Amino acid sequence: MLNKKLKLILVSTPIGHLGSGKGGGVELTIVSLIKGLILLGHKIILIAPKGSKLPFESELLEIRLIDGVDQPSWQHQKKTDPVLIPSNSVLPKLWEDVIDIENESDAVINFAYDWLPLWLTKTQPKKIFHLISMGAESLIMKEIISEISQLYPFQLAFHTKKQSNDYTLKTDPIVVGNGFDMENYLFNENKNGPLGWAGRIAPEKGLEDAVKVANDLGEKLLVWGLIEDKEYASKIENSYTKEIIEWRGFLPTNKFQEQLGRCRALINTPKWNEAYGNVIVEAMACGVPVIAYDIGGPGELIEDGFNGFLVKPNDIEGLIKATKLISKIKRKNCRDWFEKNASHKVFAERVENWVNKGLYKKSLRTFKLN
Ligand code: UDP
Repeated sequence: MLNKKLKLILVSTPIGHLGSGKGGGVELTIVSLIKGLILLGHKIILIAPKGSKLPFESELLEIRLIDGVDQPSWQHQKKTDPVLIPSNSVLPKLWEDVIDIENESDAVINFAYDWLPLWLTKTQPKKIFHLISMGAESLIMKEIISEISQLYPFQLAFHTKKQSNDYTLKTDPIVVGNGFDMENYLFNENKNGPLGWAGRIAPEKGLEDAVKVANDLGEKLLVWGLIEDKEYASKIENSYTKEIIEWRGFLPTNKFQEQLGRCRALINTPKWNEAYGNVIVEAMACGVPVIAYDIGGPGELIEDGFNGFLVKPNDIEGLIKATKLISKIKRKNCRDWFEKNASHKVFAERVENWVNKGLYKKSLRTFKLN
């Protein structure tokens, strides 16, 4: 029974179309998971905002594009804010499409960090699985995720254990990590490159701390990522008289990895419970060791002294010390860690396992018509 090929509906993030960068790490998660699930022989229907593109085609893949207004992201709202659904929002439209076609599928997997799909789990005949992509940034999201865990504990999964600690769960969390298409990242042996930083340019990502490290070491910092908060970006830039940041923009993966691979280290400085930290693993895939704050996901991706260094959150002196020691890390260790733990193949196997188990478990609450 466990080897049955499934027909799965995957529902993308409503924060932006795939390829826009607005969805952050979730965009890459969806793309590499689809590739991995197809390799395992499963049929995929992807429902995603209009404009979404995948870098490959397959006869096992159907894409349904839905037009509508982007959802605001939870990380830029106050903890106690209510659920917002803008006029002509794409979120309910994505889910109307799911409801129209769910009978053709074995299960639905949701990637949106949003209240509506979680709530729909209680009303739909088809099992909806949720890969939770953030820590508890909002009270109402924390409540609904905790409620779904009480009713359908096997339908929730997390990227890391530390991320899941934000929620009150009925059972031990199901942790599936994340995955990246191995072929997209080339190993680079060069140990003598510049320092890099990558991520959405927004306060929860803490770019200012990495800039301070580069400034104190008298170096430039190469920065990749979507500028989500322009005011925040200029404030960092204007706090130095000389140019420290070399803005590289938001690049497609092939260019991003090529430039990132030339760095001697990636500095990762989250100020929130980072759910995973895609850029950490992408750097390691290219052989680049990572120096990161030990807050959330990085603590489960970096083995201190093996593929990088972990530093206490907000400890800039600690970052500087680690940067001076970075040549002690073998670049090959980083690639090895990536291949073993975070290829699209191992990720898809973990997700397949999760869904298979969830499909054959009895829910603690069953769907009733009327
Ligand atoms: N990214 C990219 N091009 C760039 C810089 C970043 O495609 O030039 C992507 C990167 O591949 C990663 C995402 O942006 O998947 C950032 O994800 P992460 O998990 O690091 O943080 P999030 O934005 O989800 O909080």
